[in-house]
Amino acid sequence: MHLKLYRSARSLTKKVYDVKKHGKTIGLVPTMGFLHEGHMSLIRRARKDTDCVIVSIFVNPVQFGPKEGFKKYPRNFKRDFSLCKKENADIVFAPKAEKIYPENYATYVNVEKITDTLCGASRPGHFRGVATVVTKLFNITMPDIAYFGQKDNQQAVVIKKMAEDLNMNVRIKVMPIVREKDGLAMSSRNVYLNLKERMQAQSIYKSLKLAKELFDNGERNSGRIINKMKKVIDKQSEAKIEYIKIVDIKDLKDVKNISSEALVATVVWIGKTRLIDNVVIKTRS
Ligand code: AMP
Repeated sequence: MHLKLYRSARSLTKKVYDVKKHGKTIGLVPTMGFLHEGHMSLIRRARKDTDCVIVSIFVNPVQFGPKEGFKKYPRNFKRDFSLCKKENADIVFAPKAEKIYPENYATYVNVEKITDTLCGASRPGHFRGVATVVTKLFNITMPDIAYFGQKDNQQAVVIKKMAEDLNMNVRIKVMPIVREKDGLAMSSRNVYLNLKERMQAQSIYKSLKLAKELFDNGERNSGRIINKMKKVIDKQSEAKIEYIKIVDIKDLKDVKNISSEALVATVVWIGKTRLIDNVVIKTRS
């Protein structure tokens, strides 16, 4: 199939019915555009698994707080479209914000409890915006499988919970974090970093690797691991830690003493750029 652009939800849904009528499966990759290898890994996986691959490109205004840079979020539609073409996606869905949230829009999806911690604690309303737009995307595209990245781990946990709680007929697949050569997690926001900041951003993954190493060497106390991680990041003049937490991988509650598995999640500001990353630490079985 030739890559096709849809701007309207209604015409895309019509197309989706047609695809399904022919017994074909649909894979959805929701993105905010400015695509990189992280996004590509999701698209490639969708291409492998499903017959019709839909990539949505939509910078979702309702998941940004008032000072969170919605307007300045990087955009390059032409480049994104040609990358989708290169990966043999079938459909790009890139609606206008006014079409997704027309005047008097009033309905939001709120996943409770697991959104109170980590990024949910520092970005009130963020996951309400994410859950709402993903619900709309699911309703519009009716995917068999939807693909999300482990980089935004809490987002993936929230979407899984939402899909389960609301009986959504979709499988959620979470794909591993794609990193730059020096370990920095790929992100559309990395373009904001100047050279000095880009160098200092390496400390984020370094600290996560240290957590893994400490755990592998027998350390089980979260507080001690976090303190050592903090030291790595605090050495950087441009870095400011928003949080470093060690939590249960399912309910995202703080874990004081790690047993066999936990998520080490962090958000660090490098200059004016908010960067997110995590690793799962696990005993070898
Ligand atoms: P975004 O455009 O940042 O909203 O991301 C769209 C999807 O791509 C989300 O499910 C992200 O978790 C995923 N993603 C972003 N960066 C990466 C990465 N470095 N590796 C894997 N997945 C990623």
